[in-house]
Amino acid sequence: MKPKTTKQIWIGPVAVGGGAPISVQSMTNTRTEDVQATAAQIGQLRDAGCDIVRIAIPDMTAAKAISEIKQLQPQIPLVGDIHFDYRLALTAVEQGIDALRINPGNIGDEAKVIAVVKAAKQRRIPIRIGVNAGSLEKELLMRYGHPTPEAMVESALRHVRLLEKHDFYDIKLSLKANDVPMTIKAYQLMSETVDYPLHLGITEAGTVSSGTIKSAVGIGALLAQGIGDTVRVSLTGDPVEEVKVAAEILKALNLRQYGPTLVSCPTCGRTQINLVSIAEAVEKRLASIKKPIKVAVMGCVVNGPGEAREADIGIAGGREFGLIFRKGEILKKVPEDKLLEELFKEIDKIEEEA
Ligand code: SF4
Repeated sequence: MKPKTTKQIWIGPVAVGGGAPISVQSMTNTRTEDVQATAAQIGQLRDAGCDIVRIAIPDMTAAKAISEIKQLQPQIPLVGDIHFDYRLALTAVEQGIDALRINPGNIGDEAKVIAVVKAAKQRRIPIRIGVNAGSLEKELLMRYGHPTPEAMVESALRHVRLLEKHDFYDIKLSLKANDVPMTIKAYQLMSETVDYPLHLGITEAGTVSSGTIKSAVGIGALLAQGIGDTVRVSLTGDPVEEVKVAAEILKALNLRQYGPTLVSCPTCGRTQINLVSIAEAVEKRLASIKKPIKVAVMGCVVNGPGEAREADIGIAGGREFGLIFRKGEILKKVPEDKLLEELFKEIDKIEEEA
């Protein structure tokens, strides 16, 4: 998996593309003009590991709330999501937005495009062009018959060429569909065509359970091919869940480290302890840890430590007792009712180690 080298852009202090770590994005679902609620949710997203937050700018009240939101949440860059109205983009730039998500081909006459490009250039603000399969131009739909990866790429390139015509190159692109194979193909084609950084996502992916799977398959397949610079998991649910899922996808591909990893066996006929409740308790305990440790919760003493040899610390259950092991080596044998307590003590020790 050799990542494609894309042009580097900066969204506030976050480097995107050009070999920078893949960043996680999410989007608030508060009313943007409710400054307190929006800033609070941005804080939750940041705490969960989000690098860049997108906020909807549907009207001027929302656009004028940006500077106040940024005062409350200065550490995390904000992308303003704007459709059609170039005045909202200009106000968002004045208010200190860190990037715009706007399709220049939808702004209207060229003077308006030039005004947005000029403002973005002056403040060195990148523009993300976002093409969705569900809202392709009529002319493209007529020509292709229905949304296709090629039509999505052609649509994105029209917007790209419009910005390039005005010497604007701080561009990021997304080509989202809720159909996973179509999304994968569209990003592959785009990646072969331009060097701009790509923002990956499966749009309208669904609820937390089904959307997680679709996103993991689509985003994961692309990242595994070295395609993608930022990711957003779109879920019908709490956006904090989006960040957690995105982090797990990046962790699964060894692209980023986000706190601890829990390794737990699926249980089988050898399991003699209530492994499910033990694994859940360990997962809860790990939620507050930032250190990237690997903790294993295994069902049997015969295979457990060996199967989880790479874990920093782990337990393996037996009948009425369990083993605590570290890197596959057994540390001690403890009664079953003390297993969790002893494991947590060992985790505390690892946390304290430099
Ligand atoms: Fe079964 Fe032991 Fe493997 Fe768990 S670790 S699945 S209990 S063999």
